[in-house]
Amino acid sequence: MTELTGKLALVTGGSRGIGAAAAVALAERGADVAFTYRSSADDAAQVVKQIEANGRRGFAIEADAADAEAIERAVVQAVDVLGGLDILVNNAGVGAMGMITDVAIEDLDRVLAVNVRGVYVAAQAAASRLSEGGRMIHIGSCAAARVTTPGMTLYAMSKAALVGLNKGLARELGSRGITSNVIQPGPIDTSMNPADGPYAEAQRSFLALDRFGTPEEVAAAVVYLAGPGAAYLTGTELTIDGGHAA
Ligand code: NDP
Repeated sequence: MTELTGKLALVTGGSRGIGAAAAVALAERGADVAFTYRSSADDAAQVVKQIEANGRRGFAIEADAADAEAIERAVVQAVDVLGGLDILVNNAGVGAMGMITDVAIEDLDRVLAVNVRGVYVAAQAAASRLSEGGRMIHIGSCAAARVTTPGMTLYAMSKAALVGLNKGLARELGSRGITSNVIQPGPIDTSMNPADGPYAEAQRSFLALDRFGTPEEVAAAVVYLAGPGAAYLTGTELTIDGGHAA
């Protein structure tokens, strides 16, 4: 018996990176996990196998986070196959680099559709379906608190939006014992932000710890917020940034 035994979780964007690590970590602690992905069907199948290797049920659901109807369908499908919902991890997101003078309106719309509207719609669809004492966990970014270089205005804006969304959700869901929190990771070594990528050295120069974090280190925080030890923690931001804000 582990702390999440029997819990039912949905992770958006669970086929790779932080979302995949969170899906597997939740399963390691006893949860059955459904997750969405956009296009990486092979990666998604691997994550299902990793969930099942822990003796839990895993379900991959194709759903573009930029498509509100697809997200709502995915939440309904997840509740159906899992048999309920205790934990929503709003992880799907896209990076965005570019000076404000260079960002096309189509790029602005695409980033906001995934990073903000998609998160809102998933929370909206999950709100009435989450069990009493359930959890919402949103993956924001340290860029919501501190922007260190030019070219991050759009991304920082999209992640700062989650801070307000989260506080509102905490107020709306608290009467049912449901908590809502944002995790704000610093640089994490994934395909979105590889530790040997073109922006890596600049990011490392702002850290107290001299390395990128791993997806598993963020997943550990997801497990903590999903577990019984975090029952009185709501409406706040949990920063896991290697000292980016220090
Ligand atoms: P990755 O690019 O490694 O993985 C992104 C995941 O999200 C994939 O599973 C991908 O699915 C899914 N996804 C992307 N777009 C969509 C979409 N439109 N609809 C459905 N699923 C989608 O990213 P990370 O793991 O690095 O990032 C995860 C979250 O963490 C994001 O919200 C990101 O902003 C945030 N974050 C990341 C940091 C970092 O340094 N890596 C730092 C701070 C925050 P598919 O495989 O099908 O493409």
